[in-house]
Amino acid sequence: MHKVLIAGGGLAGLSAAAALGGAGFEVDLFEARPFLGGRATSYPISAGSECEPETIDNCQHILLRCCVNLLDFYGRLGVRDRIKFYREFYFLEPGGRISVLRRGRLPAPFHFAGSFLRLHCLDRHDKRAIARALMALRRERTRRKDLDRISMLDWLLQKRQTPHAIDRFWRQILVSAVNEDLERMAAIHGFQVFWQGFLARADAYEMGVPTVPLGDLYAAARWKRLGGVHIHFRSPVERIDESGFLVGGEAAEEPAGRLRTAGHYICALPFERLNAVGLDAPKLEHSPITGVHLWFDREVTTLPHATLLDRTMQWMFNKDGGRYLQLVVSASRDLTNLSRAEIIDIAVGDLRLYFPRVREANLVKAHVIKEQRATFAPAPDTESLRPTPESGLPKVFLAGDWTRTGWPATMEGAVRSGYMAAEGVAQAAGQFARFLVPDIA
Ligand SMILES: Cc1cc2nc3c(=O)[nH]c(=O)nc-3n(C[C@H](O)[C@H](O)[C@H](O)COP(=O)(O)OP(=O)(O)OC[C@H]3O[C@@H](n4cnc5c(N)ncnc54)[C@H](O)[C@@H]3O)c2cc1C
Repeated sequence: MHKVLIAGGGLAGLSAAAALGGAGFEVDLFEARPFLGGRATSYPISAGSECEPETIDNCQHILLRCCVNLLDFYGRLGVRDRIKFYREFYFLEPGGRISVLRRGRLPAPFHFAGSFLRLHCLDRHDKRAIARALMALRRERTRRKDLDRISMLDWLLQKRQTPHAIDRFWRQILVSAVNEDLERMAAIHGFQVFWQGFLARADAYEMGVPTVPLGDLYAAARWKRLGGVHIHFRSPVERIDESGFLVGGEAAEEPAGRLRTAGHYICALPFERLNAVGLDAPKLEHSPITGVHLWFDREVTTLPHATLLDRTMQWMFNKDGGRYLQLVVSASRDLTNLSRAEIIDIAVGDLRLYFPRVREANLVKAHVIKEQRATFAPAPDTESLRPTPESGLPKVFLAGDWTRTGWPATMEGAVRSGYMAAEGVAQAAGQFARFLVPDIA
């Protein structure tokens, strides 16, 4: 049996392991931490001495139906039914007015026409500008060659978008999808999100939210169906080259010793870890995300989720009966130097504007997670810095959301990278295997 070693138990490493394990390879995966999922994971927290520890996601993670490789990976683990899809996007204005975007009967790309025209949060000038820009995006996505060099904001200004169209529509959707401000985001990513998620197919935009903590999706029991995959926790890989992995931690105690060898190797570590294991790290920057978890003593909303217009908090997810809300701020550089107490104050202050019931409710507990290294920053002129799966070393392949996947740093991007690296390994082992699921259009 052909043996493969994988460093890193995030979605990139896990998807490579699932694909290769399913194709009959013997896989050993080394993860430094005692749990799987990397940046898309969950863990227990205790928020106060009287409170029971609670398992929370490090941050709410959502997907869209156009994330075909991520859904394929969930299928391999048998957890696709743990994702609940929503057809409505709720846009909330301060004061509480709700606008709902959902598809109607018309075929793509006109499927939103009815609900879009009824959105209260945009006026007719905003809507006309957005419709014009969406049609231009459809035309220009394959024709323009400078989309990696200009920012999304530059492109929107070229298309004469109104300030409200920019702030309440483009910014609201794209900053969270790509984790970057419009002025710092290469236009190619904005195009990719709107084409794949909103224009290519009528159901592509449907938003998937896991119904279980993220860590449950990749729990040990799920891997039993993929017999050839062995996972080693608390096993940091210290060096990677074509002679093998130098492994520390618990795996080093095993009789095989610290140097682990195989036919091929996949490095699925975050890009900032590459130099430490002896590989060349690409010169990418980070963009942060802040998650705020708030538990109230009563229900403050019945909405399942909403995007919050015009304030600091960008998205609300109703995690438990309207009492436990998770708020997300992407590209959250403005919050970096604030204390956790200050961020909680901002979050509760914002919520009072959208959900009047928050004014009467008491905050029972709160938790803030600032992920300073949430994703790479998808700035203009960055795509060429993202490497392909070939590492330059004959037996070593690269995976990670930061490799050149055609997607921004997302769970789908990470799984695509894992499948691409797995295809590289299979080919190098003399087998033809196709793991990557083609994009929907
Ligand atoms: C707060 C936040 C919110 C997000 N929200 C979304 C969202 O809503 N939707 C979405 O699609 N994406 C979202 N993302 C992005 C998504 O989480 C990532 O793109 C994806 O999880 C990256 O997976 P990865 O496998 O490439 O990297 P990672 O998840 O970083 O995995 C790398 C793994 O390597 C391990 N490791 C590190 N060093 C070593 C070593 N020396 N030896 C062994 N193991 C090591 C790490 O512990 C980790 O498990 C979000 C990210 C963050 C941080």
